[in-house]
Amino acid sequence: MSDCIFCKIIAGEIPAKKLCEDDEMIAFHDINPVAPVHFLVIPKKHIKNLLELEADDTPLVGRLFNKARELLKEQGCEENGGRFVINAKKHGLQTVDHLHIHVMGGRPMGWPPG
Ligand code: 5GP
Ligand code: ZN
Repeated sequence: MSDCIFCKIIAGEIPAKKLCEDDEMIAFHDINPVAPVHFLVIPKKHIKNLLELEADDTPLVGRLFNKARELLKEQGCEENGGRFVINAKKHGLQTVDHLHIHVMGGRPMGWPPG
């Protein structure tokens, strides 16, 4: 999608600190980290949010989470774990309309969300 900031990162039009990339996904550090470890795992396919997932996309979401957990471990958070978050639409405070998993670690997280 031409006006989507994450599609621009995928296209290389906007720089990002990438952790990894393959043919269907990319992971990169969040520009405004809220924890010592905070990166995003996104599909290359422009899916607006989890509520707009199509049935065919379900296996892809599994692979995104698999990559998310592998990378969190690589970032040194295997022992203490972390937080995997998908914000969706207005009440989820989603600000970028391209599906993304926030992966955070390196400090204890609060609960419940504000
Ligand atoms: P949301 O609020 O939609 O769940 O999260 C969007 C996230 O994307 C935010 O944490 C924000 O800091 C991050 N973000 C927004 N624009 C950019 C960007 O251009 N580069 C990177 N690396 N992260 C971004
Ligand atoms: Zn997009």
